[in-house]
Amino acid sequence: MKSWIESANREETDFPLNNLPYGVFSARGGAAHCGVAIGDCILDLTALEADNNLGLFDRRVFGAPAWNDFMALGPEAWKRLRIWLIGALGEDSPVQAMAETYLVDRLSATMHLPFRVAEFTDFYAGKHHATNVGTMFRGPGNALPPNWLHIPIGYNGRASSVVVSDTDFHRPWGQIKKPDAPMPEFAPTRRFDFELEIGVIVGQPSEGPVSVVRADEMIFGYVLLNDWSARDIQVWEYQPLGPFQAKASATTISPWIVTRAALEPFRVPTPAREVPLLPYLEEPGPMLHDIDLEVAFATASRAETIIARTNMRELYYSPAQLLAHHTTSGCPMRVGDLLGTGTISGAGKENRGSLLELSWGGREPLELEGGIQRSFIEDGDTITLRGMACGAGYRIGFGECRGTVLPALEYPDAGG
Ligand code: CA
Repeated sequence: MKSWIESANREETDFPLNNLPYGVFSARGGAAHCGVAIGDCILDLTALEADNNLGLFDRRVFGAPAWNDFMALGPEAWKRLRIWLIGALGEDSPVQAMAETYLVDRLSATMHLPFRVAEFTDFYAGKHHATNVGTMFRGPGNALPPNWLHIPIGYNGRASSVVVSDTDFHRPWGQIKKPDAPMPEFAPTRRFDFELEIGVIVGQPSEGPVSVVRADEMIFGYVLLNDWSARDIQVWEYQPLGPFQAKASATTISPWIVTRAALEPFRVPTPAREVPLLPYLEEPGPMLHDIDLEVAFATASRAETIIARTNMRELYYSPAQLLAHHTTSGCPMRVGDLLGTGTISGAGKENRGSLLELSWGGREPLELEGGIQRSFIEDGDTITLRGMACGAGYRIGFGECRGTVLPALEYPDAGG
């Protein structure tokens, strides 16, 4: 599809007319507004609505700098806005002159969290990742936990530490116990890691259990998600209740919500089941998406190295299955809930979605540009996640999910 905005028609743009992802931005020191990315521009929906130039809904939904109010309107409204945007930004737009006055330069805009994160749940739906981690933590004989092929495992995380791309943060402190030490110590993590995941944004609430089909309809869109992880803290704290402080310092998401509608042409099935699933988890059709993913590693002094490439289709459970499972207990879902898929690794060594796997627990350091070696993240290092679904002559890009790890702060009142 072609737009009258030239930069949206370039083959290498993440944001052609087919994409139209939703974000929250501010420009030239102004207030944060809701907007749609199109090529190198952003269409300012908050301003459009405030001037009564949108007129699609019976109430204002872009007054707050978050997409929650719009998500709450539901799938019919989601469709109505997308159709209007394709008409307004397409090459034969009847409203081009009007829409032009609401365009902002995307490259100089500041991006904010695109929605108010109601709650954050992180799953563990990647089989290669679960197998690799299980092999390292428990040995090859019992790599996959016995429940793994039957149930999507997850834990309830924190919404408060979800941050938008380019939010830098400090190396976390925690309890660390070396295998041969009699006592744990309290120190900044020495094994800080990233996890390449996709974030699933729930756009409709639920009371009580929902089917996989209904769960799919409740999904508003997707972002890239980096679940920063302190491996030395994790390995000491996780038994028997799972991750806690190891994953609570920051979770970074990309700023643009790529809608489920934009990804419809890229649906693919989950991999073949190794054991039959219980009926409530069965999928009636393809519920994953063919999204190429990559991880770039840059140190403070060197250009980036691409250290991993993988694809969303490596997940064993789809987002709809994760969400349906999440509601089995009657757990209510809310507009703005965020689900992490779990680390998406592929079969090969170069397809691994965390440093824990890429350096095999630190035993096989990575070789980066300029001869630099890394097993885990050092101060000043930057991790960037990228993703795109590739169509004929265009791509549905996610933009970037980036974060730099700053040195640990002085710990308050550490007591010596
Ligand atoms: Ca994770």
